[in-house]
Amino acid sequence: MTNKLQPHDSTAPVSVSIVTMGCAKNEVDSLHMGEALGSAGYALIDDAAKADCIIVNTCSFIQSATEESLQAIFEAFDLPQVKEGEGKVVVAGCMPARYGDDLTAALDEAQTFVPCSKEDDIVAVLDALFPHRGLAVSAPETAPLYSAYVKISDGCDRFCSYCTIPYIRGRYHSFTLDEIEGELQACLDRGAREIVLIAQDTGRWGTDFDTPSSLAALMATLAEAHPDTWFRVMYLQPEGVTDELLRTMASHDNICPYLDIPFQHVNERILAAMNRKGSRAAYETLIGHVRALVPGITLRTTFIAGFPTETEDEFQEVCDFIEEADLDYIGVFPYSQEEGTVAGRMDGQVDEDTKEERARELRAIADSISRVRVADRIGTRQDVLVLGREEDGQLYGRAMCQAPDVDGVTFVHEGAPGDIVTVTITDTLLYEMEGE
Ligand code: SF4
Repeated sequence: MTNKLQPHDSTAPVSVSIVTMGCAKNEVDSLHMGEALGSAGYALIDDAAKADCIIVNTCSFIQSATEESLQAIFEAFDLPQVKEGEGKVVVAGCMPARYGDDLTAALDEAQTFVPCSKEDDIVAVLDALFPHRGLAVSAPETAPLYSAYVKISDGCDRFCSYCTIPYIRGRYHSFTLDEIEGELQACLDRGAREIVLIAQDTGRWGTDFDTPSSLAALMATLAEAHPDTWFRVMYLQPEGVTDELLRTMASHDNICPYLDIPFQHVNERILAAMNRKGSRAAYETLIGHVRALVPGITLRTTFIAGFPTETEDEFQEVCDFIEEADLDYIGVFPYSQEEGTVAGRMDGQVDEDTKEERARELRAIADSISRVRVADRIGTRQDVLVLGREEDGQLYGRAMCQAPDVDGVTFVHEGAPGDIVTVTITDTLLYEMEGE
């Protein structure tokens, strides 16, 4: 069998494969592009090697993400149909937004570039590349989606000194309740039982409306309109943790008692250099307050190791905080020096070996705490949303205390994908749990 495509027949539908890099927010953008193209008569396929057009939806949040996206673009250039001039490569997402004309000049094998802000025009972009295309006769098959991300806003105005997102994604803007409900309904129509609300800064939702609203009001509205659906919110900056939100979470059984609050550091001087508010004492108070208002809540955070000028003592403060705060899950990233950011220009950059070493140390402490926190769930009853089967037939899903992609899964023995089953946790292995 060969992957070589025949020259594109102008009456045949154009097949498109979307390769998604980066985070859940990019996954949502890819889903939207795919839906728009499917409705416009393009044939969406998984196999890039058989596609007339490959859209690489890139991520360039940090240098390593840019490198991975570049690799995906070069892999697309290397596909037989692309080399033979029959397949076209479109580079979309964060990289065109971040690098603009520099990228266009460097990647001249790409047919065109679509920054995040222009992704809504993807049908017009492809129509210009394939002006005489035929239409796919049937709508693309949509696989069931038991857990789905819904984006509630885009952009960010916080300008943390290390972060490229405000330059890539632009200013913060909330999506309207109507837009979110439309998106949510499309996910429910595909079988979603869990909706994960995401954004760069979820806690600010609604504050930019003429009549301001709040994330708590949004979650209450959605949870009450869809009582059989789980709702979960991710990426909540510390300032977004309000009593209104905590009380809404505590008073709705279908809002997962789970918060992901990125702290990034706990030393006040480093936080100020990051252009973030907070301190170790403030975060300890916040955690205590959250646990008082939502007993049993699962907490996740992230830390950056080796921010410019970070001293050994300041790093040690993060280690001590992690040991004492007893959080369920902690993501750790070595600081990445990014062109165009304030932190990237700072004196006192920490050398790569030290950053990696500090990140390793934080991860080891974080894992030792997570292992105990997760093992403490043995014997507890947990509702588990069954998501699918492993290759050996073993059913797996996620409990309310496990967020998608980052917190592992729960293995279960009964139910079918899409069911919510109640199990007793019988065993754990770091993040993974098993229930009966
Ligand atoms: S809040 Fe998040 S997205 Fe916004 S600037 Fe800070 S790190 Fe970047």
